[in-house]
Amino acid sequence: MTDSYNENCIFCKIASEKIPSKKVYSDEQIFAFHDIAPVAPVHILIIPKRHIETLDDLTSDDALLVGKLIIVAKDIARTLGIAESGYRINLNCKRDGGQTVFHIHAHLIGGKSMGWPPFPTT
Ligand code: AMP
Repeated sequence: MTDSYNENCIFCKIASEKIPSKKVYSDEQIFAFHDIAPVAPVHILIIPKRHIETLDDLTSDDALLVGKLIIVAKDIARTLGIAESGYRINLNCKRDGGQTVFHIHAHLIGGKSMGWPPFPTT
């Protein structure tokens, strides 16, 4: 179990509303807000309020929390009108996963058609 609040973490500050964000959802455990550098018409970050640095730090005790993160993301997708057209929920872990903010977050991305894989294969 990691500490619930890290004073050096920008997402802890956003989740506790110590610094402003474009909030779309908040409850006891989860906070969601618009990404500051959107890569698509819809780009929302869904985070646990508790500070967890990476997916690698999760334990089986976090199963309900992670499940809730995904349920909140899909509910936001419906609210923002991309449930029918489809979307991607992306969780990046550490260097090779492209993680730059070390407080776990799901990217909800939609409003445009995406390809796969997410990197050049040649
Ligand atoms: P990742 O590369 O998966 O760690 O994603 C981090 C995301 O956080 C990036 O898409 C950034 O644009 C976003 N981000 C960083 N700082 C902020 C902020 N203050 N408000 C909103 N989004 C942010």
